[in-house]
Amino acid sequence: MTNSSKTAFEKVIIKKGDITKENVDAIVNAANSHLKHGGGVALAIVKAGGNEIQKESDEIIKKIGMVPTGHAVITNAYRLPCKFVIHTVGPIYGEGNEDEKLHKAIFNSLYLAHLYNLKSIAFPAVSSGIFGFPKDRCAKVLIDTAIEFLESFQTSIEKVVFCLFDDETYGYFEEYYKNLL
Ligand code: ADP
Repeated sequence: MTNSSKTAFEKVIIKKGDITKENVDAIVNAANSHLKHGGGVALAIVKAGGNEIQKESDEIIKKIGMVPTGHAVITNAYRLPCKFVIHTVGPIYGEGNEDEKLHKAIFNSLYLAHLYNLKSIAFPAVSSGIFGFPKDRCAKVLIDTAIEFLESFQTSIEKVVFCLFDDETYGYFEEYYKNLL
């Protein structure tokens, strides 16, 4: 089967692992609005990829002030195996309209990858760590958004990986994905 004949569902992959090791065109960082990569997956990405990622992020902040919730920006990936890092800002749980905001953060990451003509992208469970978004709902929003995007656009994106760090999060993603069959 050629990749373009795959269904949106088939282009989605759920796996357990460390996203910094993913060999895709872009990995997504669960960033904050100031692009201060000081904890969680953001810190892991800068540690593995190099402080240049933080420096390039600081340059972006100098130019645009901040990245609003639901938006995404892109930097190079330096020593990571991927080519780019897409930094998206998910909602902090409790601030209101979190599901919509998380949908927007994922959609805009995919759209940025599409604009860069990328073929593959990997996401962590954005907002479900320090930002406190419930993991089961995170799985639903992320998978639904990816499938909706792949179904509604003629896009360069052929593969969307959800790379989950712990068993519990992986379990929620795997369960939601299987139930779509
Ligand atoms: P947020 O502030 O958006 O909640 P976090 O970085 O705290 O972001 O967490 C997002 C998710 O990323 C959590 O599920 C966390 O376990 C996971 N995570 C942390 N490190 C990694 C990694 N190296 N690879 C993949 N996922 C990771």
